[in-house]
Amino acid sequence: MTVEPGQVCESCGRRVNKPKLPTSPDTKVVSIGRLPLERQAALADALRALAVYTGAVDHSYPAGSLLEVLVLLGGQQREEIKTYFDREQA
Ligand SMILES: [Zn+2]
Repeated sequence: MTVEPGQVCESCGRRVNKPKLPTSPDTKVVSIGRLPLERQAALADALRALAVYTGAVDHSYPAGSLLEVLVLLGGQQREEIKTYFDREQA
């Protein structure tokens, strides 16, 4: 089964990247943190599902763009996030 660039593979859930064009900006992968394996896998699944649900997958740089939006929204929910980490054990 061939998955077209920009589409998500139904079997593995990965998005096939579109080819880089001469006009494409230089890019760098964003790697923001370390997690235990199970939590990393759950986070990756949740981000992929959120990218599909929100339509981020249809945009350029879907994972990075989704992360930008999450940070933007997180900034609007700073107090809730602070409360979460106050309650969680370090
Ligand atoms: Zn696949």
